[in-house]
Amino acid sequence: MPKPMPPAHPFDYPGTDADDDKLREECGVFGTVGVIDAASIVALGLHALQHRGQEAGGIVTHDAALGFNSARRFGLVRDNFTSEKLLNTLPGHIGIGHVRYSTAGSKGATQIRDVQPFFGEFSMGGAAIAHNGNITNAITLRRELIERGSIFQSSSDSECIIHLMARSMGRTIPDRMEEALRKVEGAFSVVAMTRTKLIGCRDPLGVRPLVLGRLGEGWVLASETCALDIINAEFIREIEPGEMVVISAETGVQSHFPFRSKRSRFCIFEHVYFSRPDSILGGRSVYETREAIGRELAKEAPVDADLVCPVPDSGTPAAIGFSLQSGIPYAMGIIRNQYMGRTFIEPTEQIRNMGVRLKLNVNRALIRGKRVILVDDSVVRGTTSRKIKEMILDAGAAEVHFRIASPPTAWPCFYGVDTPQREKLLAATMSEDEMRDHLGVDSLKFISLDGLYRAVGEAGGRDPKAPQYCDACFSGEYPVEPADMIDQGFRMKTAAE
Ligand code: SF4
Repeated sequence: MPKPMPPAHPFDYPGTDADDDKLREECGVFGTVGVIDAASIVALGLHALQHRGQEAGGIVTHDAALGFNSARRFGLVRDNFTSEKLLNTLPGHIGIGHVRYSTAGSKGATQIRDVQPFFGEFSMGGAAIAHNGNITNAITLRRELIERGSIFQSSSDSECIIHLMARSMGRTIPDRMEEALRKVEGAFSVVAMTRTKLIGCRDPLGVRPLVLGRLGEGWVLASETCALDIINAEFIREIEPGEMVVISAETGVQSHFPFRSKRSRFCIFEHVYFSRPDSILGGRSVYETREAIGRELAKEAPVDADLVCPVPDSGTPAAIGFSLQSGIPYAMGIIRNQYMGRTFIEPTEQIRNMGVRLKLNVNRALIRGKRVILVDDSVVRGTTSRKIKEMILDAGAAEVHFRIASPPTAWPCFYGVDTPQREKLLAATMSEDEMRDHLGVDSLKFISLDGLYRAVGEAGGRDPKAPQYCDACFSGEYPVEPADMIDQGFRMKTAAE
């Protein structure tokens, strides 16, 4: 039987454009050491992180007798990394893994060689590395490395780290990694392994998440706490921005701070959308934060209506918060078909035209004659919002009001999130009133940036002189200059804007 080809894009399957009109986190990382069957633990952790990348995944393990082993596959973890046969090829007590959407340089055209973890053989032994984020000077680094003789195997920016390590004179692999990461700019949460050591590192701004957990006698690193829960590991703490931890079964966790200290700028969009609602960020459940965002939104942008409905699933906690604050009843006015959109329907033109209806359906009996508030997490291109509005009006709604749990997304992200080019972002070209008219809704309101900061726990709102988070996709103020993109013609926000 011919092998199925990977999709050109994980959401190219028909009926999934409800997901296509979102910003997408590009990667999740996981690693463990000191456990009996590392591969199974890593597979479970990656399964819990699947929302951070569905295009491909990979696992590397090391066994004292059999050395390093790896498996990299297109598709979902549950379809690739659950068979005993495959897991038996990955023996060992230490392992790391990665799920990806796609990284810089290869969007929509991933080849298996771009799938992480990457592996490098050094004089002191091998090392595997997996990375969540985006290296903003990767093109420059790659050019310099190639000029000096490096031969790249992939189009991934993460491979730069391996080549920088190869050029380092450091005596140990953690030393070499430290030196390599000092040359890298941008956002990176790295999980790496040697034969005996698990290494984790966050960039100095701590843009992307990374947490530490304890599993029996062993240790775990993961992008989010939901990946600890699935294996019943204890959440110990978040890895600090700029911190590197080197962990072994024998010596435990050794922590150091190899970079010049900076004010942390965690991605505020992790709170809004990327992280799973059952994860803990900054000591608070993501669900709780999203509910607080909904409450704040209801205070800032009240409207007289009969029902508050979430755009499923990501708008749900904010819609509940909006309903609690406003006293307007919450209702599931739109139902999501969880099983739609993978493989069984041929992608004919007729099916494609059904678009969002294949995934979302309006609960007509509930909606008819009602003034409906729809709560969504964000508006990116606006294509899905328009279609949802049409569905709600077709079902007989009297009024449709959109309330959005993030400020207008007017700037692209260069820190590991797939964003359309700036001109494709609705908020980059239209005012709020113009967007309302374009979407054809009775009213449209976004939470303010200050309101979002209050909801995530900054009682005084955003400090304009020293923002506490990365919010570049809303504010246009990039905490790390996207050097490669500027070289390619990206125009930063000017003082007048
Ligand atoms: S630009 Fe937006 S999505 Fe990207 S890291 Fe910053 S807040 Fe997060």
